[in-house]
Amino acid sequence: MKKVDDENHEKFYRAISKHSMDAIAILTLEGDFLHVTPAIDMVLGYTPAEAHNLNVFSLTHQEDIKYLTGIWEKMLREQGMAIPVQTFRMKHKDGTWRWIASSVKNILDDPEVYGILYTFKDITVSVVEAKRQSIDKSNLEALINNTSEIMWSVDRDYNLITANKAFVEVIEMITGNTVSKGDTIFIEGFPKEDYIKNKQILDSVFEGKVFTEAMYTDKPTEGWSEIKYYPIWDNQVVIGAACHSKNITSIKLAERKNQFDKNNIEALINSTGDMMWSLDRELNLIVGNQPFIDMLRKFIGKDLIQGEKIFIKEVPPEISQELVYKFEGNYQRALAGEGFSVVEHFEFPQEMWLQISYHPIKLDDVIIGVACHSQDKTKDVRAEQKRIRNEERLKESQALAKLGHWELNFETGVALWSDEACRIYGLPIENNLHTFENWLSFIYSDDMEVVMSAIEAVQISKGDLELNHRILLHDGSIKHIASKTIFEYDETGKIPVGLYGVVFDITAKKDAEIKLKQKAMELVQSNAELEQFAYAVTHDLQEPLRMVTSFLGQLEKKYDSLLDDKGKQYIHFAVDGAKRMRQIIIDMLEYSKVGKISEECLDVDLNEVINGINILLSNQINDKKAIIQYENLPIVRSNKTPIQQVFQNLIANGLKYSAEGVNPHIKIDAIEELDHWTLSVSDNGIGINEEYFEKIFVIFQRLHTRDEYAGTGIGLATTKKIVEHLGGRIWLQSEEGKGSVFYFTLPK
Ligand code: ADP
Repeated sequence: MKKVDDENHEKFYRAISKHSMDAIAILTLEGDFLHVTPAIDMVLGYTPAEAHNLNVFSLTHQEDIKYLTGIWEKMLREQGMAIPVQTFRMKHKDGTWRWIASSVKNILDDPEVYGILYTFKDITVSVVEAKRQSIDKSNLEALINNTSEIMWSVDRDYNLITANKAFVEVIEMITGNTVSKGDTIFIEGFPKEDYIKNKQILDSVFEGKVFTEAMYTDKPTEGWSEIKYYPIWDNQVVIGAACHSKNITSIKLAERKNQFDKNNIEALINSTGDMMWSLDRELNLIVGNQPFIDMLRKFIGKDLIQGEKIFIKEVPPEISQELVYKFEGNYQRALAGEGFSVVEHFEFPQEMWLQISYHPIKLDDVIIGVACHSQDKTKDVRAEQKRIRNEERLKESQALAKLGHWELNFETGVALWSDEACRIYGLPIENNLHTFENWLSFIYSDDMEVVMSAIEAVQISKGDLELNHRILLHDGSIKHIASKTIFEYDETGKIPVGLYGVVFDITAKKDAEIKLKQKAMELVQSNAELEQFAYAVTHDLQEPLRMVTSFLGQLEKKYDSLLDDKGKQYIHFAVDGAKRMRQIIIDMLEYSKVGKISEECLDVDLNEVINGINILLSNQINDKKAIIQYENLPIVRSNKTPIQQVFQNLIANGLKYSAEGVNPHIKIDAIEELDHWTLSVSDNGIGINEEYFEKIFVIFQRLHTRDEYAGTGIGLATTKKIVEHLGGRIWLQSEEGKGSVFYFTLPK
């Protein structure tokens, strides 16, 4: 070290006092500046000369005066002792307050000085910094302690450096023990499995890694936390770990809810057969349910994925550009804010009708896309088409049948008439709503009474109303109407809520009926006249015929010897003709007499009737060795003579039309039915071909020549007339070569 002489010492001393950061002053006992080093300029902004007028106390902050006074007194008492003065505030020349670090020393015992040594410096910067740090610290503490989030830090020995209240509480909850700064965080009671895991995590953090752990707990309540571990660096060395655990239960729950909502919506939109999809403003698919994806695949031949344009570039040729434009137009309409629904007809991929609804999707009043919903309406449309077709057919059928219908609603009092009902009443079909009074006004005045009393009766009985009356149309024409009206009841089936009915234009039928009646009457008339005529003719012919026959007999008897063979033959022919004519006249008389003679109704024993006929026909029966078989025939209530005639004709025919070389076997039977007898006469004769079953009952119709079988062709016609006259009918079963069965009925 350099030897320092006195002069140099003085120099050094001056340099120190000039350049030192600390100012040194000699003060009076009252605190006035006697002498001060130039450093006062750096501390309080004054020159040493200016400082002469200053006093320490007058420069001191009001709040610090008391303290300073105390120190001052202490200093005066303790001579020669340097007393440190706590930081206090002094006023700078520029008016600001400066924090001063200082010390005072009583050097009154130094006669050269006789004053107070005051050393002081400005430490405002470090005080402010310290204060700021202290505020920061308490602020930080306040912050970390006032949150439910858990924060703590540990050193590399797992000892707690700092922890907030929440951490201490949680540890207490888990372990039952209180952890304090400096303690190991793995205090007694720390769960073992967590200990290993936590230690591993911390060790990896000590290696400089940031670690995030999500934790689920179900105790005491279900919850999730996210724990973050950060390394604490000091000059590139990890000195510990800062940890922060956040309760993310609400986030997790919200996430879960979101997921649930998403799943729920997905489940919902996929649980329907309807198609649902949504597009963003650029017409990219946001979401589409399975039915939509499936349908679109049929259209475009591939699966559209999220985010893809709905209108793909390569449109299959089956899809018309027109359809694409139509869809695009609809999407744009919805994107412009309109919600609407349309039914579209498609021919591809199959014929179908889809009802498509478009809804704008809004987010904060901004349209961000379009949501669509489509239902397959094919069935409905087909059903509707069918319904329309059926309705048209019904209308056509009604028109064809001249059958109209109407429905009256009691609540409105108005009846809806079908097109044909309007037509029947001569009204335009648009004029199809009518009241009861309207309808009444059409009824023909002569029929009004009948109609009204029928209506009154039905109002009480609530039965069906059947009417047959005339109506007077506005054009003056008259129609015959048949109608049936039925009450319609509510769901209880008790309260009538309306009426419905059918009206049938029977004018043509009525006209025909009238004509038919007239014709029938005319026919009866002419028949009667004809019968009268036939009767008169046949009756009157008998006499001249008898004359012809008898004179021919005379001629034969008296001139027999004069006649040659030819003459005799001619007379024979003439007699034969007259005989046949007589038979015809007798038969015709029989025929025309049927029904003329009214006979009393008696119990007729058919056994007796057949017995009588057997006697009458005994010659033929004997000749042909015929068997007439019958037993236990019933007693019927009828007219005896006609019945006898019927049996006689049938049995006689059975004998006559017997087969060559076969003995006739004729059987008479009777079967009792509910309200009539069915009687039959069967034979084993030549039989009749089916094609003549009708013809043989027509008068004069014969199937054989006179040479084969004699006869007039009147017998079966007379039989039929009698049976019908008695209220029965006649028919037969027969086969050529096998025989015939004639049946006829007699009402009981
Ligand atoms: P007719 O016997 O006088 O010819 P009918 O009116 O009794 O007249 O019979 C009409 C025709 O029906 C007969 O000509 C005959 O050809 C046929 N006929 C009637 N009864 C029989 C029968 N039992 N078997 C076969 N043919 C019959």
